[in-house]
Amino acid sequence: MFYPCPNCKTSPTPHTTLRERGNMALVRCQRCGTTHKVYHKEEKKREVLIPTLIHKHEVTEKKTLRYPANLVLNAGKTYSVEGENLRITKIENLEKKFVERSEAGNISRVYAVSLDLPARIKVNISEMGKTASYRAEVPRDQELGVGQVWGLKDVNFEIKAIRTTSGVIKKGFVKADEIRVVQGVVTKKRPVGVLFWRR
Ligand SMILES: [Zn+2]
Repeated sequence: MFYPCPNCKTSPTPHTTLRERGNMALVRCQRCGTTHKVYHKEEKKREVLIPTLIHKHEVTEKKTLRYPANLVLNAGKTYSVEGENLRITKIENLEKKFVERSEAGNISRVYAVSLDLPARIKVNISEMGKTASYRAEVPRDQELGVGQVWGLKDVNFEIKAIRTTSGVIKKGFVKADEIRVVQGVVTKKRPVGVLFWRR
């Protein structure tokens, strides 16, 4: 890259970029060796590239995504970045420390869960003292409620309790996105729907 050098004071000279942070770059003049800072134009500082580890059930994808440099990222919150719908789980800053929140320009790595796949929920269904466990895949916006009857595989079960990311509920509805485990008992009642299950 060509930049005006404060030492050479001629027309712009070729420079080597040593480090970049947001819209600031530390550069060295290839002619005289002077190291100095330059600031990129507005449109450059708007975005930063951050390596992002995206957890997608069995696999973790590593992608370098473009974030607005001044966007504040919070662990636990959801974001849409370059078409990826993510919930951020961990943020590593430029000092290699894990932080709860940070401006994108100050982040070296993001850990996230993909929200583009259905939620995967453990379903325990009891019948006469025996419990069978399944994994159901449920659209993240789908609500499940205690007392509801659902079909799964070849049985219908009534939900008795739901373990969420924050505790166990014995009444009410929860979005699949927040559900870890559903406890149910086999019933002959009519189901409101059928859950897609795997293995
Ligand atoms: Zn120079």
